[in-house]
Amino acid sequence: MSKLKIAVQKNGRLSEKSLALLSECGIKIANGDRKLKAEAKNYPIEVLFLRDDDIPQYVEQGVVDVGILGENEVLEKNKSVDLIERLGFASCRLSLAIPKDEIYTGLLYFDGKKVATSYPRIISEFFRSKNIHAEIEEIGGSVEIATGIGLADGIFDIVSTGSTLLMNGLKEVETVLKSEAVLIGNRNLNEASQKILDNLLFRFKTVRNATENKYILLNAPNTAIPAICKILPGIKSPTILPLVEAGWSSLHSVVKEDEFWEVIDQLKNCGAQGILVIPIEKMVN
Ligand code: ATP
Ligand code: MG
Repeated sequence: MSKLKIAVQKNGRLSEKSLALLSECGIKIANGDRKLKAEAKNYPIEVLFLRDDDIPQYVEQGVVDVGILGENEVLEKNKSVDLIERLGFASCRLSLAIPKDEIYTGLLYFDGKKVATSYPRIISEFFRSKNIHAEIEEIGGSVEIATGIGLADGIFDIVSTGSTLLMNGLKEVETVLKSEAVLIGNRNLNEASQKILDNLLFRFKTVRNATENKYILLNAPNTAIPAICKILPGIKSPTILPLVEAGWSSLHSVVKEDEFWEVIDQLKNCGAQGILVIPIEKMVN
């Protein structure tokens, strides 16, 4: 039987979350000893564990069908692959930073300066588009120490909270790119692989829907129901059940995680009481 070959990062910031996503999709992968390859017991998929740097090339060449990695790495490698889906984890940004005591005068600051980075392509293109002439010093890692040791005037690197920059006496001055984990795919998938991929994407969506939505229950006077239904449209429409107390109902619906606090305030203003918010395990629509 044909299998979809998927590459995930072997060790690093994406490995666990990539495997967790597959696991939430009900795909069981046994890889206790972290071999190069593992097969799922209950799904037509084969997982290859690779360095993230190698994934775009392997996807382009068709050694694997799809791969999960940071969008930043996809853009840097610039291979002919399709960006199939954003996965919503490993969010970070790629930023320019300079020693904190320097006075930043805007992008022109970098004209004629030297910038150390592991992402030479992304930053060169950015500078070119802004007509800034900076020298790019490519280094493999520990970019944040480059200014301290006199290797460069500034750095271009991944930032999530900014605490690493701060610890190294740097300040972030420009955000160049926002990144998250993505699924990329080979441009010439055969029909069998495409079919498995479509099913996998359906499962991704179902998991994503569940984490992005909450189940909400509340009690409200019947007079408030029309107003509440406008605030809580639900999947089709809310469920309404009568309470034993006359003139009151219990209302069930779903609410988007990121609209949650705003919605709660509006519901309270409408007279809702006893509001319960419950995580959703899976959501199919
Ligand atoms: P590999 O050994 O596979 O080459 P790596 O050292 O290149 O690993 P990691 O540090 O594990 O890469 O980061 C992998 C990806 O995770 C990055 O390309 C980026 O998309 C994302 N990432 C990196 N640092 C952070 C961070 N601090 N917060 C959130 N996401 C991050
Ligand atoms: Mg890497």
